[in-house]
Amino acid sequence: MLDLTIMEELSRLKTELERTKIELGILYEVSNAMRTTLKLDEILYIILTGVTAHTGLGFNRAMLFLVNEKEKIIEGKMGIGPENGEEANIAWTKIEEEKMDLDDLIGAFKKSNTVLESGFNRQVRDLKVSMLDKNENPLALAVLEGMPLHLTGQTLHQYRNSPVIQTLESNELVLIPLKAKDRVNGIIVADNFITNDPITKDDIRMLTMLANQAGLAIENSQLFELTVERTHSDYLTNLWNHGYFQYLLQIEVEKARATKSPLSLITVDIDDFKIYNDTLGHQAGDKILKDLALLLRNQSRKMDYVCRYGGEEFTIILPRTDKKEAFLIAERIRMDIQKYPFLNEEIFPNRMLTVSLGISTFPENGQHPAELITSSDKSLYQAKNKGKNNTCCG
Ligand code: GH3
Ligand code: MG
Ligand code: MG
Repeated sequence: MLDLTIMEELSRLKTELERTKIELGILYEVSNAMRTTLKLDEILYIILTGVTAHTGLGFNRAMLFLVNEKEKIIEGKMGIGPENGEEANIAWTKIEEEKMDLDDLIGAFKKSNTVLESGFNRQVRDLKVSMLDKNENPLALAVLEGMPLHLTGQTLHQYRNSPVIQTLESNELVLIPLKAKDRVNGIIVADNFITNDPITKDDIRMLTMLANQAGLAIENSQLFELTVERTHSDYLTNLWNHGYFQYLLQIEVEKARATKSPLSLITVDIDDFKIYNDTLGHQAGDKILKDLALLLRNQSRKMDYVCRYGGEEFTIILPRTDKKEAFLIAERIRMDIQKYPFLNEEIFPNRMLTVSLGISTFPENGQHPAELITSSDKSLYQAKNKGKNNTCCG
């Protein structure tokens, strides 16, 4: 009798030990992978792969949200998982057939991040919810309380109006806060919406351990990205600085060449700025540069790079943009600047601040960055010669 109990106990301990071994293995693999990169996208992918891979925690779907303290919102950043059962079968069979483990999946992502093109990822990235309404929105509650939330049946129904719950359409899900020191900086949401496997206490415990590591890795990566951004920014205007402009142009010209697409470069120079500076002083001039920089950034497209070339000259790199389109954009910017009420602008000869713009386009005006810069400079010179407040093309 006693022997049997001991045997049972031994067998239970053995199973537990096996499971702990597997769990530690997963945690070890994920945290090692996270140490190999500081790129936020790669970190997020590693975390979510750890949550969804069969050799990881094996959830059907996982998504990651980050807390945006400044705007008091929680933003969807990445989602991994199939949109339906059919897609699940294809993806899981492929992983099974190719015997892909965590390492292989992460390696594949670093080479080509096509998973980010999935419909589910796009859905998650569109999700933005307020941090404040914890009664309506379980993400806000998880951030505020800093505790895991396991939602099923009635508790899930309570949140039926939340956009996150409506998008996911799950019957059961778990939300785990990510922490860096004692601050919640994100949330992992995971579910089994294809297989409907119940989420166990062990699943939640494992997710929580993984989340503790993930929160720190995310914070490190965000700090790194902030530092990189600062070293590439101009101190006065916060635009990309001269050095980074040269780098960006090089990269974008190479991309344009590889994809056989056009690229345009606009150079912007303030008209008669010396008069403004000589009359009101450099500090007043600097204020104008700051306001103009903000206007340039607000009036250009998300895909464009606005840079301070030096002094009162700015450059805008427009990927995938031909000369005709660049001209329209430049003219719109010129008019916006003409209309904008800059401080003390009556000091300028035309009683308003105006700019001249020069445009060059790859490939017709130059094959290399230096040629494009020279060409847009020439066009700018023509615009000045035509009486300023003008746009000219190469
Ligand atoms: P133009 O219409 O021909 O462009 O005339 P301009 O007076 O604007 O001449 P230029 O483009 O050569 O601009 C040079 C002047 O811009 C000199 C200086 O007064 C002002 N400037 C250049 N860099 C800065 C800066 O960082 N801060 C301030 N406040 N002024 C600057
Ligand atoms: Mg100048
Ligand atoms: Mg000038």
